[in-house]
Amino acid sequence: MLQASDWAIAQYQQYGIAARRENYGVWRGWDRGVSHIDMVSPWVKSLEATQLAFSPATKKPVKAATIVLPDLADSLAFQAWLPNVKGKFVLVSMPQPTGRPDYNWQEFATPASFDKMKKERSAQTDAWRKRISKTGYNARQLAAVLEKAGAAGIVGSNWSNGFGVNKIFDASTKKIPTIDVALEDYALLFRLTESGKAPEISVFVQSKELGEVPTFNTVAEIKGSSKANEYVMLSAHFDSWDGATGATDNGTGTMVMMEAMRILKAVYPNPKRTILVGHWGSEEQGLNGSRAFVEDHPEIVNNLQALFNQDNGTGRVVNIGGSGFAKAKDYLGRWLAAVPSAYKDSIKTSFPGTPGGGGSDHASFVAVGAPAFSLGALNWSYFNYTWHTNRDTYDKIVFDDLRNNAILTAILVYMACEDPERSSNEKADFPPNPRTGEKWPAPVKSKRRGGLDN
Ligand SMILES: [Zn+2]
Repeated sequence: MLQASDWAIAQYQQYGIAARRENYGVWRGWDRGVSHIDMVSPWVKSLEATQLAFSPATKKPVKAATIVLPDLADSLAFQAWLPNVKGKFVLVSMPQPTGRPDYNWQEFATPASFDKMKKERSAQTDAWRKRISKTGYNARQLAAVLEKAGAAGIVGSNWSNGFGVNKIFDASTKKIPTIDVALEDYALLFRLTESGKAPEISVFVQSKELGEVPTFNTVAEIKGSSKANEYVMLSAHFDSWDGATGATDNGTGTMVMMEAMRILKAVYPNPKRTILVGHWGSEEQGLNGSRAFVEDHPEIVNNLQALFNQDNGTGRVVNIGGSGFAKAKDYLGRWLAAVPSAYKDSIKTSFPGTPGGGGSDHASFVAVGAPAFSLGALNWSYFNYTWHTNRDTYDKIVFDDLRNNAILTAILVYMACEDPERSSNEKADFPPNPRTGEKWPAPVKSKRRGGLDN
């Protein structure tokens, strides 16, 4: 994260744009290391597997047998069984019955066979959920309980419903490793364990704990002229889950905003209003970077003409909504009118739209009534294939679409800066949310200390 921030600041310097890091808190620092995970018995096979983020490391390869979390009657039976995990790697996920995504079944299976697979899978999924809940714990608590009982490590598999793709989140163990194993490698271990072939695996994970480290946003600025105390913002989070490189979540949003800044500086170096870009930290941990910025910069938030955030992958922007602001149609409509048809004809607008509750960083601004908008992209199989997965990599980037988005963003920012009128932050009248009872999502405090024991 620190290297990425240094890189971005240097890049902005090359564009002639001032950039800075703004610390807002501290977090548990962790560096991913080598994950080397093999089945060593009954035969040898290197496994497609990796430690989860923040997983403890092993000092050397840990070789141990596997054990499957059994289907027990209740929490008492679970407590009685618990000593069996000592010194073993515990398999805690359901083995998937198929590694083919549904769209592939739909294309090739008979309808009867597709139906049968789905029925069996949902019954199996349901039974697995019950198996976990009968232990008396949820999945996170269960990992801690297994650790306390002396397990060698936690082994899961979080399939993302596409070919060869798993979601990689964070571990909740404190001393033993938590790893994710790809669908069929996991299913193989599971079958061998269940059929009494007593597989053994060797787990070597070498991450480093860095202790308490600063957590920060990276901010760049093109100073305004006649209305320097009013702001137009670009926004995209800078952190990502680390099972891959975060190329589309949110490298692509980041590139769009950096490129828009480069264009603006080159062709519009003296904007009326001040242009700011926020490359936020800790979005994945709960929008902490943008929430901290909102708390720390009332002078900006109260004088915000507009903010544009992009955070749903590599695709062309096709959806823009009014975030629940009553008059958004007037000013966003004016700004969009200046966009050439090639960049706007496929955009669907919705006004007044709804105030986003927390999906991405524009929500931190919307919650305090500041006009912030999401540039919604075409999904390019985002949710199955790249979002928080081990396949969110450079090869998935569609550069033509990013170019489209950078041009669109630069034009919207230009129009928002030049507009003789201030945008309105008047809220549309909504019925209260049936779940929360709120008419408008309430601001949530930024978490400024995370992952540390005290
Ligand atoms: Zn994201």
